[in-house]
Amino acid sequence: MNVQTKSSYAVLLDRIYAKLGSTSRKDISRLELPTPQIIWVGQRTIFRNFMEFPKALRREPEKLLLYLNKELASAGYISGDRVIFLGRKERSSFGALIDRYVKNYVVCPVCSSPDTRTEKNKKLGFLLCEACGAKSSIKGNYA
Ligand SMILES: [Zn+2]
Repeated sequence: MNVQTKSSYAVLLDRIYAKLGSTSRKDISRLELPTPQIIWVGQRTIFRNFMEFPKALRREPEKLLLYLNKELASAGYISGDRVIFLGRKERSSFGALIDRYVKNYVVCPVCSSPDTRTEKNKKLGFLLCEACGAKSSIKGNYA
């Protein structure tokens, strides 16, 4: 494509996208996680789009739920695409907890790539990075 025929705005956009592309492997935000949709019904907190998160993070829904239950001191359960927690939980805490989950259980500590998978070896959990090949141990049983 001939750059000369494009408007300067389009050229600028191209440059921005090129720049984003070159750094995206190290950019945690490229996971593009949805915003948690939280509603309250009585004394229950419903995480309406829960299932989108394990899908985006490539983790087991049960593991992510285990983590949220521990951090929220709750006993939430999966119902369709939603999770229903007992008690009224702060909307803001879900985003913060998921950010922490990503940092601890998804992103490679060596190269910061979110392209990782987990492996179990004699009860020990490992994070295997598909970008740099690093193998890192992970704490707990949440990934
Ligand atoms: Zn890595």
